[in-house]
Amino acid sequence: MSNKELNPMQQGVVEVLGKPAGWVPLPLTVVAAVREQLETALAPLAAKLSPDQPLFISKGSLNTVNGCEAHFMASLNSFEWTISNVRGTVMHKAVELSINWRGPVEPADLVDEALTRLEDEESRGPSDFIVKLSPGERAQLRSYAVDLYTKFEESFPPLKASWRPVTESSARVGLFDGRIFLSTRVDLTLGGAGSKVIIDLKSGRIYSNHREDLRFYALVESLRSGQPPRRLATYSLESARADVEEVSEGVLQSAVRRVADGAKLIYELTSENREPKLNPGPQCRWCPLKDNCETGKQFLERGFEDD
Ligand code: SF4
Repeated sequence: MSNKELNPMQQGVVEVLGKPAGWVPLPLTVVAAVREQLETALAPLAAKLSPDQPLFISKGSLNTVNGCEAHFMASLNSFEWTISNVRGTVMHKAVELSINWRGPVEPADLVDEALTRLEDEESRGPSDFIVKLSPGERAQLRSYAVDLYTKFEESFPPLKASWRPVTESSARVGLFDGRIFLSTRVDLTLGGAGSKVIIDLKSGRIYSNHREDLRFYALVESLRSGQPPRRLATYSLESARADVEEVSEGVLQSAVRRVADGAKLIYELTSENREPKLNPGPQCRWCPLKDNCETGKQFLERGFEDD
């Protein structure tokens, strides 16, 4: 399919994600400088840790601890699959299958295939959850996932193999001889190391913290590969809009500060038993404590504008 045959949404994606003529990658010395900054910031914390009990930092833990510490503590080890949170995983699997599918295929068929594959996967995934769904629940999940995949197919140009598309790509970086780990799982990447575009797909709207998520991904990718990615994009399937940021040294430094601050908070709360602070916000809506937390209840009753 040539660019002329793309619909306006697809052309928009090509325009915001394409590599501009004359683009120059960041010098590799940036990665060394960022690594040094991160290690300097984390060194006091690393001195308290051992490889037997390392500290794991993920996008989710950074987001939650920076949102509300009490929510973070309540969410530890309490993850559960739901139809709402598994639909994105099904959609990502459908995208993965579509990249290598030969010939035309309908979204519903890809979603069915994705559900079957996920059911059969033995790794820590939603296999059990999907297997145990009632026929009605499965139909509901299928409906949500078909909707998401259809929106993706309408919005993104067909992903060429030469763009090196990868879905659900996980990465991990160990620091201080395995005392601290940073880990990510990226929805979609395009391009090879050194010019990668990292894309987070959202079923709903875009929030300010989504940019922070992607900066964290960029930091991990830079430390893992030694080469910074080129561009970061949060793409809302609901609104067919992207929030895009170029990767710069400043972007990586911002991620370093957030990781250093977040790691310190996580350590204080989980290892030093510091009393968690309450910080009401949009996260109260999905906090496990929302039915008993007066601060959160008052916040939700007052109502607020989503930013
Ligand atoms: S309900 Fe809100 S304020 Fe209360 S613990 Fe949860 S996120 Fe924090």
